[in-house]
Amino acid sequence: MVQPLGIKFEESLTKKIKPPQDQLGFGVYFTDHMYIIDYAFEKGWHQPRIVPYQPIVLDPAAKIFHYGQSIFEGLKAYKTEDGRILLFRPQKNIERLNRSNDRLNIPQLDESVFFDALKQLISVDQDWIPTEPGTSLYIRPFVFATQPALGLSPSTNYQFIIIMSPVGAYYPEGVNPVKIFVEPEYVRAVIGGVGEAKTAGNYAAALKSQESAKEKGYTQVLWLDGVHRKYIEEVGSMNVFFKINGTVHTPSLNGSILDGITRNSIIQLLKHWNISIEERTISIEELYEAGKDGFLEEAFGTGTAAVISPIGELNWCDEKLVIKNGRTGELSQRLYEALSGIQKGTMPDPFGWMVEVRVK
Ligand SMILES: *Cc1c(COP(=O)(O)O)cnc(C)c1O
Repeated sequence: MVQPLGIKFEESLTKKIKPPQDQLGFGVYFTDHMYIIDYAFEKGWHQPRIVPYQPIVLDPAAKIFHYGQSIFEGLKAYKTEDGRILLFRPQKNIERLNRSNDRLNIPQLDESVFFDALKQLISVDQDWIPTEPGTSLYIRPFVFATQPALGLSPSTNYQFIIIMSPVGAYYPEGVNPVKIFVEPEYVRAVIGGVGEAKTAGNYAAALKSQESAKEKGYTQVLWLDGVHRKYIEEVGSMNVFFKINGTVHTPSLNGSILDGITRNSIIQLLKHWNISIEERTISIEELYEAGKDGFLEEAFGTGTAAVISPIGELNWCDEKLVIKNGRTGELSQRLYEALSGIQKGTMPDPFGWMVEVRVK
């Protein structure tokens, strides 16, 4: 693997006006710069550069458009009250990026290339990290196939790009439960497919179902397994947890579920607090039974964007299941506060999750 000798820097001559921190939304505004590195079969990864944020030019035959060879990651940088810049478990993102790359037959990216890119780009655009409670700088690394050829084979050329977006508080008025539609017909992934990879196509395949759930008044879709449509997998862009009779349950990583970094962290936090947590197969029938019998105490989704998203209602084949009277449960609230406190540097970090980025 070719080791880049240094990142070329082309500074943006015009600086954008930063939007007010209470109007950031999610992934709407982008910082002044972006990072790019190219891959060519004969050269490996080469020519790393930080350039002004701008459109990219691709050949219409680029393989990404036709065969969808593309993967992405998502992580956040936070600025602490004393001005330090922290990343949450970035090592996990590079490991997952390379697992996704492997599944999509995309060449591996060197860890040092990834960390160097993150560090330099954050350093250049550090003034873009918002500071208001709940805000952060969302970082979106992605890789896609650029070879202009229609023959069905893995691309010989790729680009790895990182863009960054200041994002607002997910819950400006406090943590709020969402209503979730259990998808009875379409499926997201099957074992042996690409459900474990963070690849664009998984989302493209989910949009139709998500839109029809929205029309019915539901925020997201809960996916069931692709074979029996019986076992719970995950929600939209989140993993899912249920507190049943004092124990927390989450679907095990069976090969079709995305291995969420928030999921992994929640499991560690629960163990640390001596709250029993089981990773296992959970059927939707079993969940409804527990709900009807009064044992389903809380439900929540986990992911980088929201951290914790409590679930207030499920709808499966027109049968509604209201959880915790549609309110946020104590455990969901406690987990949200603990994890977002660690991320923002206001709470101790017993696991050594936070990585400080020292900027110039
Ligand atoms: C990214 C993602 C998640 C959450 O993963 P985190 O690492 O916690 O952000 C869950 N499910 C899917 C399908 C995802 O793409």
